[in-house]
Amino acid sequence: MLDVTGLDAGYGEIQILRGLSLTVEPGECVCLVGANGAGKTTLMRSLSGLLRPVGGSIRFDGQELARLSAHDVVTRGVALVPEGRRVFGPLTVRDNLEMGAFRHLWPRRNDGFGRDLDFVLTLFPRLRERLQQPAGTLSGGEQQMLAIGRALMTRPKLLLLDEPSMGLAPLVVKEIFATIRALNAEGMAILLAEQNARMALRTASRGYVIAEGRIVNSADTAALQRDPAVQEAYLGF
Ligand code: ATP
Repeated sequence: MLDVTGLDAGYGEIQILRGLSLTVEPGECVCLVGANGAGKTTLMRSLSGLLRPVGGSIRFDGQELARLSAHDVVTRGVALVPEGRRVFGPLTVRDNLEMGAFRHLWPRRNDGFGRDLDFVLTLFPRLRERLQQPAGTLSGGEQQMLAIGRALMTRPKLLLLDEPSMGLAPLVVKEIFATIRALNAEGMAILLAEQNARMALRTASRGYVIAEGRIVNSADTAALQRDPAVQEAYLGF
């Protein structure tokens, strides 16, 4: 489904991703584990069209995404839930969700919008209670739910999650990860970048370890959890 090969990307003269390759198959939940600054966000931004790669290819369902705009990438079925959530604080929860649905609302309303909204609000009942509330007044966990909901409103085939646990209390992290598992159980393909390696490795079926912009290890998550190098570097054994 997603086939990334030899990806090079960075900022101006600074190269961050160095020949990075990975795949996600339909229905898979794959995690990307790595330390602060390893390049996870840079990869997520490259995959979603926010950062133009310098080299390599990003094939999704047989099409090349590497040179498409962020808008065109969303249209192809890849949605990013960005690090730090980035909800639109002054807008209501409902308006934030409508922003996610832009490609269905235009040029005609009602193209499944009600059904999509209901799906998101069933997944996150707390958002239903707060539909008219400004997003900026939500708790961190609720903002994360809204960011995921907004991405789901684009009807993605592949969901990219960048550090969904960041800054959240342990109980809220558990709740968010339960939702990620539920979405995956319904068939959604997911690529999950996390510094919280423990949660990521419990949630995904396969994982990659990224260091200094390169994939340094990959295996099914059960094997990664048993790997002494992974345990020492990322699981605090
Ligand atoms: P984190 O969990 O801290 O976000 P990460 O694995 O997501 O880590 P990236 O955010 O991709 O890492 O950052 C990788 C490297 O790229 C870091 O050294 C960072 O300083 C650098 N970097 C990130 N954004 C920019 C930018 N806009 N300009 C220059 N360098 C950047």
